[in-house]
Amino acid sequence: MSDLRGYLKKLDENKEIIQIKKEIDRKWEVSAAMKNAGGMAVFCEKVKGSNIPIVGNVFGNMKKIEIALECPRKDLLNEYIKRVSTLIPPKVVPSGPVKEKVFVRNEVDLDKLPIPTINEKDGGPYIDAGIVIIKDPEFGHNLALHRIQVKGERKAGILAGPSTHLHTYIRRAWEKGQPLEIAIAIGCPPVLYIASQVTGPLGLDEYEIAGALRGRPIEIVKCETIDVNVPAFAEIVLEGVIPPNQMELEGPFGEFHGYYTPGKSGATGPVEMPVIEFQAMTLRESPIFQMIMIGKPPTEGLYLRALPHEADLYRIVKEVIPEVKDVYFPPGGCGRYHAVVSIKKRTEGDGKLALAAMLASRIGIKLAIVVDDDIDIRDSLDVEWAMATRSQFDKDSIIVNGTPHVIDPSAVKRDGKTISKFGIDATRPIASPYPDVCDVPKEVFESVKRRWNEYIGGDGSE
Ligand code: MN
Repeated sequence: MSDLRGYLKKLDENKEIIQIKKEIDRKWEVSAAMKNAGGMAVFCEKVKGSNIPIVGNVFGNMKKIEIALECPRKDLLNEYIKRVSTLIPPKVVPSGPVKEKVFVRNEVDLDKLPIPTINEKDGGPYIDAGIVIIKDPEFGHNLALHRIQVKGERKAGILAGPSTHLHTYIRRAWEKGQPLEIAIAIGCPPVLYIASQVTGPLGLDEYEIAGALRGRPIEIVKCETIDVNVPAFAEIVLEGVIPPNQMELEGPFGEFHGYYTPGKSGATGPVEMPVIEFQAMTLRESPIFQMIMIGKPPTEGLYLRALPHEADLYRIVKEVIPEVKDVYFPPGGCGRYHAVVSIKKRTEGDGKLALAAMLASRIGIKLAIVVDDDIDIRDSLDVEWAMATRSQFDKDSIIVNGTPHVIDPSAVKRDGKTISKFGIDATRPIASPYPDVCDVPKEVFESVKRRWNEYIGGDGSE
């Protein structure tokens, strides 16, 4: 799919999108409609005070990820890993639809966009489906989603958490006394959103991941006022700078974990964050504004993150345990804080080694669980059964204290800066005897199953 529009068409063909024709308020009403739509994508044609429509929840369930990647659910992880094993660099093109209209300097006005206020206590309207594109002389382009709070016609605040690549880029520019140039691309091809969730190393170009996921390069164009390349098929692009050492209050904002982010006191409130000063806006003739519905899980970020995070974790665990069977982030753990991995244990201690790797990853895992390969980790009953019957927590757990966190609301209970992480090894020992899992004999079960009609009063014929 070349762009958001192509993707929306596919969602429509698969009956995964709802059209709202009634005029709707971008403050709270749009997000209420998205909450009510369950996993359906929602296209709001008429937004009060704007001639630009809003679309959201376009990643509202795994079916949509299947559509975006044109691959069935059962093959997604393998297919994803296969595709990203050969990165495809982006292709610079002279122009593209995103340049149909160009506004510079004081022609820029964020008020022209239907930017929504999503949850009740949000500090104001937020752009939360804007892919933040930055460039560093050594590390190249970096793409990620960051929440952006509107603060004026040409000004916004941006959340740049300490563990993010954005934070590193900002620090490196500021150390030289320079502003960091920044572009925000809204309404991009779906593969770019998926690639934006990769937790790869500094210097990994997310454009190349997106190209690999799509099987052909992402077309990019030069910005008007900064030295950054942006997707040619985006709906809207904002260009600006993050001026050095300027911090202002940002937030609160209802996050993916289901809480507003805490201020200094620990209660819902704003925090000091960098600001963006915008100097250009380019867009299509009739653009579509995209948002991401966010709040207590399940919300769409879960499905958007699922695959890149599974693939990242798979790679991380495989480095220490070659025989990883499956990896999974249960939705109750916000698709990020809890992770379960199944392995074929070869050596005593493999479980602990896998836990150490999981807790060390940048994904943000707080609770890591490792089970044997007979456990279906996508079934919470099976995982709980393994923990109940294969763990003694004094010996089979590890705790890591004082580690950084990914905006975890419970960090407030400590010092607000660090958290403690827990790992449970629910694998059976291999070096000492252990009881077998009980079951009826397999051949008897198969026979009963095959002849089930005879048992329940059928006509007796096979
Ligand atoms: Mn990155």
